[in-house]
Amino acid sequence: MNIVIFGPPGAGKGTQSKFISKTFNLHQLSTGELLRSEIKNKTNLGVKISDTINAGELVPDNIVSDLIEKFISDKIYKNKLIFDGYPRNLNQAINLDNLLKRYDQKIDIVLKLQVSLETIIKRITDRQTQEKRADDNETVAIKRFKTYEKSTEPVIEHYRKSNLLKVINGEASIVEISAEISGLIKAI
Ligand code: AMP
Repeated sequence: MNIVIFGPPGAGKGTQSKFISKTFNLHQLSTGELLRSEIKNKTNLGVKISDTINAGELVPDNIVSDLIEKFISDKIYKNKLIFDGYPRNLNQAINLDNLLKRYDQKIDIVLKLQVSLETIIKRITDRQTQEKRADDNETVAIKRFKTYEKSTEPVIEHYRKSNLLKVINGEASIVEISAEISGLIKAI
């Protein structure tokens, strides 16, 4: 089974992806984490993308596509992926459909965590004190939320049309959200 999880930055998609990966024995593929590790390790790619990430903007599609293809093409991860942070725009969604088809796979469910901007700002400022991510502050949080809304709206429509989309109340507690997600996955 392959899962796509959506939500604005701070919606809890990282936390829920970790829960799903443990419960259903899947691999969490977080493009944000992969990109941050490139920056941390000061790779050529990391140096190239750090300004873009710190400004809350999207990294070019081809860069992220190459990163995810490494996992999709690897037999170890076949039908075992949670896409956390990908796709972020319609071009990426179409690219993901094509990549999965090429490797004889598909998306089984798309989970969208619905959270208000007020909640996001509160969660992100809390996370800033704990994790000290360079892109976690109120200004960048608002920018990332707006970028998310603008670029993912057509993606949500894309999945709504293919009947894969499930919208989840992301304002609920972590445990409640996990329970709802579990029920939805078990029902596939
Ligand atoms: P995240 O951890 O998912 O919130 O991602 C952190 C940052 O990484 C985003 O604000 C973007 O700058 C970049 N990023 C992550 N995923 C993607 C993607 N699919 N396409 C482009 N940029 C991405």
